[in-house]
Amino acid sequence: MSEYVPAELRRVVRERAKQRCEYCLIHENESFLPHEPDHIIAIKHQGRTTESNLAWTCFTCNRAKGSDLASVDPATGEVVRLFNPRSDTWEDHLEVNEDGFLNAKSAIGRVTVALLKLNRQELLAIRTLFSKTRRKPR
Ligand SMILES: [Zn+2]
Repeated sequence: MSEYVPAELRRVVRERAKQRCEYCLIHENESFLPHEPDHIIAIKHQGRTTESNLAWTCFTCNRAKGSDLASVDPATGEVVRLFNPRSDTWEDHLEVNEDGFLNAKSAIGRVTVALLKLNRQELLAIRTLFSKTRRKPR
């Protein structure tokens, strides 16, 4: 969730992400609502307001994630941690198919897609619309 993050730290996190949501990859220019910093490990779980614990996220992903750190894998029923943009590589866990649909490549990918609703209708429409110019976050 969004907590107070100093302007300079926000700028660093935003530029590091190239202004894309680090979960769904939507660029700020493709979103109606402004992107914001996410505490990957929420403050209530002893997360800190540091570069290494912040991710740049779209409003919707940030609200869907909330303070969660893990979820139940829809395929196995096991509790699995969420994708961590600071320690995981996006392409190791997720991929975009030609229809703009995100496919999970791991249990971490599956729980992240499910909890953050990464295949929600507006994302599919945006990914399809911008598919010819889509860039990766790194
Ligand atoms: Zn997002």
